[in-house]
Amino acid sequence: MPRPRIGVLALQGDVREHARVLDDLGASATLVRRSAELAAVDGLVLPGGESTVIDKLARAFDLRAPIREAIASGMPMYGTCAGLILLADRIGDGIEGQQTFGGLDVTVRRNAFGGQVESFETELDVPALGAPPVHATFIRAPVVEHVGASARALAALADGRVVAVEQGNLMGTAFHPEVTGETRFHRRFLAKVAAAS
Ligand code: GLN
Repeated sequence: MPRPRIGVLALQGDVREHARVLDDLGASATLVRRSAELAAVDGLVLPGGESTVIDKLARAFDLRAPIREAIASGMPMYGTCAGLILLADRIGDGIEGQQTFGGLDVTVRRNAFGGQVESFETELDVPALGAPPVHATFIRAPVVEHVGASARALAALADGRVVAVEQGNLMGTAFHPEVTGETRFHRRFLAKVAAAS
């Protein structure tokens, strides 16, 4: 099978970390800033960063409509942190005018762990991935406040707050596997790409 061509949305955020994981897993990672680049890939990763900035740049680069069309047509996508926010149908506390691409039937709250302790790490049980637990890094992370009927939770914190979700070819995590050497989410995403192409 040819190497899957995976785009990493490269408007802002931790683009390189995702590209490295994808290349290490045998995919061919390319940076996506234009609709022609999006049209040339089999799947798309939306990195962590700042969702308000990525939203604005996506509109400035005329990528918003093509990304929404790609989601509607079933292109597999995986969003981490800001990327999860961008894939959510609803945000609890976006800034004025903030938009998402949507696709995941969830409501996400930005900066849910804000205040003094903005970042933390924890061991997270993810039944769909099996053992061992995921060492999850949360950096000014969102949580999923509500999981709609079409989406399903993949993981929750000990207090029950959902931090990973999936819906068809879309997946989102509030944390950053790409910075800790955790590859199982990217593998799961690549399996969706293989099944879709
Ligand atoms: N707080 C950021 C946002 O609202 C997300 C942080 C991250 O991606 N690490 O987009």
